[in-house]
Amino acid sequence: MDIINILPDSVANQIAAGEVVDRPASAVKELLENAMDAGATEIQLIIKDAGRTLIQVIDNGCGMSDVDARLCFERHATSKIHRADDLFAIRTMGFRGEALASIAAVAQVELKTRQHDKELGSQVVIEGSEVKSQEPCTCSPGTSIAVKNLFFNIPARRNFLKKDSIELSHIEEIFKRVALPNYKVGFSFYNNGRLLYDLKPGNFAQRIAGVFGSSFNQRLYHIEEHTEPVSLNGYIGKKEYVKRVRGEQYLFVNGRFIKHPGLSAAIEKAYTELIPERTYPAYFVMLDVDPQRIDINIHPTKTEVRFIDESVIFSILRAATKKSLGQYSLANELEFNPSTEIDFTPMAKGHLPESPQESFNPNYNPFYATHEHEKHHEYSESTRMDFANFFGSKTIVDTKPQIAFEENPFEPQDKTLSATTTSATTTPINYLNQYIITTLKSGMVVIDQQRAHERILYEKLLSRTNEGPTSAQQLLFPVNCRFNASDSEVLSELIPDLERLGFVISPLGQNTFVVSAAPHDTKEDELQNILEQTINEYKNNMMQKFNDRNKSICLSLARQMAVHSGTALKVEEMQKLIADLFSCQAPDISPSGKRTMFIMGEQELKERFK
Ligand code: ADP
Ligand code: MG
Repeated sequence: MDIINILPDSVANQIAAGEVVDRPASAVKELLENAMDAGATEIQLIIKDAGRTLIQVIDNGCGMSDVDARLCFERHATSKIHRADDLFAIRTMGFRGEALASIAAVAQVELKTRQHDKELGSQVVIEGSEVKSQEPCTCSPGTSIAVKNLFFNIPARRNFLKKDSIELSHIEEIFKRVALPNYKVGFSFYNNGRLLYDLKPGNFAQRIAGVFGSSFNQRLYHIEEHTEPVSLNGYIGKKEYVKRVRGEQYLFVNGRFIKHPGLSAAIEKAYTELIPERTYPAYFVMLDVDPQRIDINIHPTKTEVRFIDESVIFSILRAATKKSLGQYSLANELEFNPSTEIDFTPMAKGHLPESPQESFNPNYNPFYATHEHEKHHEYSESTRMDFANFFGSKTIVDTKPQIAFEENPFEPQDKTLSATTTSATTTPINYLNQYIITTLKSGMVVIDQQRAHERILYEKLLSRTNEGPTSAQQLLFPVNCRFNASDSEVLSELIPDLERLGFVISPLGQNTFVVSAAPHDTKEDELQNILEQTINEYKNNMMQKFNDRNKSICLSLARQMAVHSGTALKVEEMQKLIADLFSCQAPDISPSGKRTMFIMGEQELKERFK
């Protein structure tokens, strides 16, 4: 008996859809890319319920003929390639001809399309691969595709969708990936009738500002290089604005967003020793490469690519990043001299370009200074920090707060732990710029500086929220901060909580907020960064069922403001940190539950020397 069947198209399409369309964001990606490929100059994205109910893309591109309006839903229906050879000269975003077939297999789709030289357009309704109707219609030139009730016929997959806020942030990310490199095209994006983005055609810098807020560009340096295998152009983050999580990192090849760990490393390597460990720069870099020398056909969603000249491109990208970092940070101190060019042209394959010399401060700490030229000033000031002698004497040397967020001079408290230490007289020493070693009456103590500082800040913040409203520090110039849509929603929710900590924040609409006051000692140009990371940590904390929101916010803020591992602390700073730590309620554990220190007592030491 023969047992092999050829699957009907509707089933085959549904199976293929699993690869192409796994969530609303992937349908959004395909529709936006089709609009780009159609040569649109204006694209609207309209979403309801994070794409669950409706995903609609309206473009003013070339439109389709009546026949094409029907054909586009067939598997392997594409106008973009004709022969296998064409695969190696692709300049369009799509070419597999399976996106619309896949989407139509798992949703109710309504297409309206009209070519510019035609009076009438065509309307096609298709549900679960079944054409319900096709008729002439009046519509604007271009194409509108509405995808309704995604996965209506696959309940399992529909149930698999995450909360709206999560699906929305995936969609938003896709939107950014398409809108950023296509800055000559206007984009608008509505969710549930609310305008989230309204991006006018412009240049790359304007587009970045449109997406991330106008102040974002001050955090970036320009980067540009034109050589044989690759032409590159874009922006890289200043080293003062690195983050502890990989945030805005965008690489594009021929206008397409890609993920390429190798090339990302090329950029990050250029920052080595300029920024603290485990922090990451932002970047927006567009590469232009001969399509014959890349392979984008290695993955259906096409975010992974292979380059024939990968190692050369790696070197060029790294050198160009270094050049930009070196050139521009120098420009901060000297008059900017734009004639420092590096010539790449005669470079042989495999030959590594020489990197420009840069000076950097290994003690750099973004929490103390934001500009190179301020640093020396700040460091000399720092030696006069407020320091209360932890070991008996109560002299306060100075009231200049040293560690960010510190408000009051230290007041010794009679806590059990500190009481045991009164006779200690050692000067703390630093190991690896990460650990502080000192002695107490009860033994030798090793403290993790970052975790300890997190604990100190956390308790300070918490006690502030419990004490009721605190006096906020008015900012001389209110700072506008811009966030993505899902972060804006979270921030709006958190405003009352943040106000209790000393922030004054008011929404201005379109994901922008003005911050007019902030806790004492918050650096104005770090506000955006601090808020952004606090929101993100808050989201993570809440996802992990951390359900005390006040604690969660204090925890996130404390983590943002704590001194990094790798920062060289002065003796006085270490002494202050030790003193503050031992006046905490729970000095031995960080607010995220990790050990801040251990004590090795006399007994234990004796054991070791047996
Ligand atoms: P691909 O983009 O890989 O060719 P799709 O399934 O995404 O495959 O689209 C099939 C075809 O439908 C495209 O090749 C194009 O000719 C046509 N098409 C899809 N969307 C649009 C649009 N917005 N405007 C004009 N033509 C479109
Ligand atoms: Mg396509």
